[in-house]
Amino acid sequence: MFSSLLHQVKKFQWPLNQLSLINPNAIVRCVRQDKCGDRRFMKYSALNLLRQAMGGHKDWPRAWRDPEPKDAYDVIIVGGGGHGLATAYYLAKNHGIRNVAVVEKGWLGGGNVGRNTTIVRSNYLLPEELPFYEWSLKLWEGLSQDLNFNVMFSQRGVLNLVHSDAEVDAAVRRGNAMIMHGADAEFLSRDECVKMVPGIDDKNSRFPVYGGLLQPRAGNARHDAVAWGYARGADGYGVDLLQNCEVTGITRDRQGRVVGIETTRGKIRANKVGLAAAGHSGHVAAMAGLRLPIESHKLQAFVTEGLKPLVDTVVTFGHGHFYLSQSDKGGLVFGASLDGYNSYAQRGNLPTVEATIEAAMHLMPSIGRVRLLRHWAGVMDMSMDGSPFICKTPIDGLYLNAGWCYGGFKATPASGWCFAHTIANDEPHAYNAHYTLDRFARGYAVDTKGVGAQPNLH
Ligand SMILES: Cc1cc2nc3c(=O)[nH]c(=O)nc-3n(C[C@H](O)[C@H](O)[C@H](O)COP(=O)(O)OP(=O)(O)OC[C@H]3O[C@@H](n4cnc5c(N)ncnc54)[C@H](O)[C@@H]3O)c2cc1C
Repeated sequence: MFSSLLHQVKKFQWPLNQLSLINPNAIVRCVRQDKCGDRRFMKYSALNLLRQAMGGHKDWPRAWRDPEPKDAYDVIIVGGGGHGLATAYYLAKNHGIRNVAVVEKGWLGGGNVGRNTTIVRSNYLLPEELPFYEWSLKLWEGLSQDLNFNVMFSQRGVLNLVHSDAEVDAAVRRGNAMIMHGADAEFLSRDECVKMVPGIDDKNSRFPVYGGLLQPRAGNARHDAVAWGYARGADGYGVDLLQNCEVTGITRDRQGRVVGIETTRGKIRANKVGLAAAGHSGHVAAMAGLRLPIESHKLQAFVTEGLKPLVDTVVTFGHGHFYLSQSDKGGLVFGASLDGYNSYAQRGNLPTVEATIEAAMHLMPSIGRVRLLRHWAGVMDMSMDGSPFICKTPIDGLYLNAGWCYGGFKATPASGWCFAHTIANDEPHAYNAHYTLDRFARGYAVDTKGVGAQPNLH
């Protein structure tokens, strides 16, 4: 029996030996070459994985270059987070604008894109929002294939629990709006919610569960993979990704038009400058003399020690800003509310930790003995109606992508897609037509929650 097994192994070895005899670079190096010149990168594929495995994984090329800044670019994007990188990618891919730089003061993905709780959904109410977020969800559905980078998008569903008759009505109304706009939504009874998330306290809690609005196509993704995937994709089209390059000034000519930026790595000229600096948007826009209707707040996230599979969806608690999901490593990931005062610090404070853990215990008392492993914060650009800006600014040559509040991660693909469209065409796409800076002056605030200029309530 042993000899027959050996025979089988030898039979199988032959093709492998043949492969290794031939120059491996010639066999399976799957190289993408774009039209602009000699930019190349090795495609991530099963075949290339096999080839690299045979060579001891020593031949993987860098995912992106580390170029020196050029003197001038057609477009400069300030901020190497998800939105900035996605914008550069779609400028090159959709509009053929490849003489582009993304300028990042730290490292790519070191901002909110690598700090968030990764929830992706399109369960909005208003016609100004639904088409945009649904388009984003559609882009998410094909993103790993488009970028040739596994962003680990997992459509495990998002379940919004409701705790009163009024909340049931509001959730059903929102679900109907979603369905009318081509999104997916289901209203679950209390029993169906408990069946889906067995640990929730449905009867004894102060706010009993009345039911829940489920969006089955929603879910989450691996946040830094999104930044890396867009970075690699943009670099593949020839975009320069300039890290450790802080913008310290925005240069304008005599007519007031933006003509470039000043950075810690020197002055760089540009025909157009797009701001995608998230929590630092107000600070960066002020360099061009622009005051934004944005406050910078901190928002914390939390992760517990790893557990066996417990929750296979994303569940939100309706009475208090709290939600949880389980990461692929097993940790429970908690999201919560703002810390409640303005700050640029990327760390949070203990009262918010306490409030978050109280909400967790309220929703799911069975996790009471799980140990919290880490918590951290990101800087949020809270707009005064809870909706973003993707628009031209009153300053010629300056474009703005900001005001994402709690929810910019899910918007990353559509935000980059629409911002690239706006920069390339000097006018918005229909999806972002409402996200202008002058909407407050015109009386067209996009305020889903109807709580006005109170960032802590959005
Ligand atoms: C704790 C937490 C949880 C969240 N959870 C979710 C969620 O579940 N779902 C969701 O949809 N959204 C969520 N968000 C929001 C989401 O992360 C943000 O809205 C989104 O990431 C912002 O866009 P970005 O990725 O481009 O930002 P960032 O990654 O912050 O990118 C902005 C970049 O600009 C750079 N920059 C700033 N100033 C300068 C300068 N002067 N020069 C050069 N570069 C500069 C920064 O270093 C940064 O890298 C969460 C955020 C936090 C903090």
